[in-house]
Amino acid sequence: MRLDVVSLAPEALTPLLELGVIGRAFKAGIAELHLHNPRDYATDRYRKVDDEPYGGGAGMVLKPEPVFAAVEAIPVLPRRRVLLMSPQGQPLQQADLRRWASETDQLVLLCGHYEGFDERIRALADEEVSIGDFVLTGGELPAAVIINGVVRLRPGTVGTEACLEEESHSSLLLEHPHYTRPAEFRGMAVPEVLRSGDHGAIARWRLQQQQERTLTRRPDLYARWQAQESSGT
Ligand code: SAH
Repeated sequence: MRLDVVSLAPEALTPLLELGVIGRAFKAGIAELHLHNPRDYATDRYRKVDDEPYGGGAGMVLKPEPVFAAVEAIPVLPRRRVLLMSPQGQPLQQADLRRWASETDQLVLLCGHYEGFDERIRALADEEVSIGDFVLTGGELPAAVIINGVVRLRPGTVGTEACLEEESHSSLLLEHPHYTRPAEFRGMAVPEVLRSGDHGAIARWRLQQQQERTLTRRPDLYARWQAQESSGT
């Protein structure tokens, strides 16, 4: 999979190449990271990439020409999506990561900066993505979040398919608790059932824990899970 990031601070993405499981996936060729700086495509003497907003107001706005030129210089693979990082975008969901991991072989991630980007930059994007209802200074961390989440779903990155299937957000229920040795630590004991060897009882306990956790932590997900169960899908 080819990942292209368009950013004024592309060096913010390079730690991904050294990041544990994801770093190994890049080294194994499961994904390739290509960085593009609009500043390299600015044509004026000062390599200007931002300017004051028309109509006045605080902050600087990312100019359209260098961003368009940077995007237009990127090779185009057949199954490509262009994602614009924006706090005004659709909130990122695991289902989006699954869709991009399985249905594309190229993601182009556009990072904003400053007060934001010239509205016409939106025309470059297939989708606008927000990583949550908060505002950061630039799109680099959101882009890194998306790359991490997509690359770990590509075959060969994470140990087993089962790991990916069982985890939180693949189904609507959150994951059950995990324990490892020792059986007792600072007065906190591992639940007896997990040490019983009774696989049926363990599976029932885990499902019950998933339901309880989801109900208390994420009643919104629990309600969706109940609706799904009762509709029998
Ligand atoms: N004034 C703009 C915010 C600019 S933040 C507004 O109110 O919409 C600067 C850049 O950081 C954005 O262009 C975007 O690329 C990135 N960014 C900030 N918060 C983000 C978030 N929650 N999700 C995705 N990108 C975000």
